[in-house]
Amino acid sequence: MENDQINVTSPLLPSLDEFIPMLKDIWDRKWLTNNGFYHKALEKALAEYLGVKYISLFTNGTLPLITALQAMKITGEVITTPYSFVATTHSIWWNGLKPVFVDVDEETGNIDPEKIEAAITPHTTAIMPVHVYGTPCNMKRIKEIADIYGLKIIYDAAHAFGVSVNGESVLKAGDMSTLSFHATKVYNTIEGGALVCHDEATKKRIDFLKNFGFNGETTVVAPGINSKMDEFRSAYGLLNLKQVDSAIASRKHTAERYREALKDVPGIRFLKDIEGVRHNYAYFPIFISDEYGISRDELYAKLQEHNIFGRRYFYPLISTFSAYKGLDSANPANLPIAHKLADQVLCLPMFAGLDIEGIDRVIDVVRK
Ligand SMILES: *Cc1c(COP(=O)(O)O)cnc(C)c1O
Repeated sequence: MENDQINVTSPLLPSLDEFIPMLKDIWDRKWLTNNGFYHKALEKALAEYLGVKYISLFTNGTLPLITALQAMKITGEVITTPYSFVATTHSIWWNGLKPVFVDVDEETGNIDPEKIEAAITPHTTAIMPVHVYGTPCNMKRIKEIADIYGLKIIYDAAHAFGVSVNGESVLKAGDMSTLSFHATKVYNTIEGGALVCHDEATKKRIDFLKNFGFNGETTVVAPGINSKMDEFRSAYGLLNLKQVDSAIASRKHTAERYREALKDVPGIRFLKDIEGVRHNYAYFPIFISDEYGISRDELYAKLQEHNIFGRRYFYPLISTFSAYKGLDSANPANLPIAHKLADQVLCLPMFAGLDIEGIDRVIDVVRK
């Protein structure tokens, strides 16, 4: 309808008709959580879809970040970026570690590998980069640096579901990668997430950690947490997995229509596809410079007048929040590009099933 509210995102929902028999099945089995039938089936199906060998389901996308740091017994300082969702840095904090912010690359918003070395100290033990908006980080360069200094790499791949480079999943890079299956993401299990690793022993350790550290009935091998995914969300996730490719195709059409309509608008920059990359079109950020005429916040408000709700991802920067702003590395002088992007960015509505009328309503406001 002409003036219906358009939000920045809308969840991908499976068919209710297909979900109801699964609920019935869960009732019959009377096994609700703890590595049940659907949990096992979803781990297997996701590993296959994502092209990885070892994946552990979690109850959200934050606990895999926290657990990855635990699993590898990371100590001291962890290098990360402020241009992300707060959970990235929070996971470092929750492990009693010190986050060290490094500035980002202006083109992608990802960590600038050339600025990592200057942030390394004798206490640095890991790097936690983020594939922001699903754009792959410079994984080769990050690995080179990590290898030289003996650092672990944990990718926050919350935005990168299904993203690959030359046919290889980005989840294969680094020591571990985390995913979020929150309702707002490309693929969702309502709440949910996963941790990807590369060997069986590590997967086993992760599975202990997400279940209080239990190894069997009476042995606790580590101070674990509870982050198990239940049968309901696992079943829901199996159904959503069947339609995620068509959801990504729908997002791609939206991105193409936005790009075509906005390519000649002065002062507006957007992300382009990169050769060899299978993108997932998780977000459609635009970056607004002075040439556009009005500010980012004015456009944000203008869209709202038209009942269109964009989001300023990622503004404010994590480094400006009270828990972190006192850190030396949080000094804005250390993070000029991240501040610039945070001040310019506006994510336009992007979700599977956003129709042409909706896309064009957004385009009309932005072009005006
Ligand atoms: C969504 C998100 C998370 C956290 O995931 P939840 O499932 O909401 O806990 C972590 N990092 C990034 C970059 C995210 O976008």
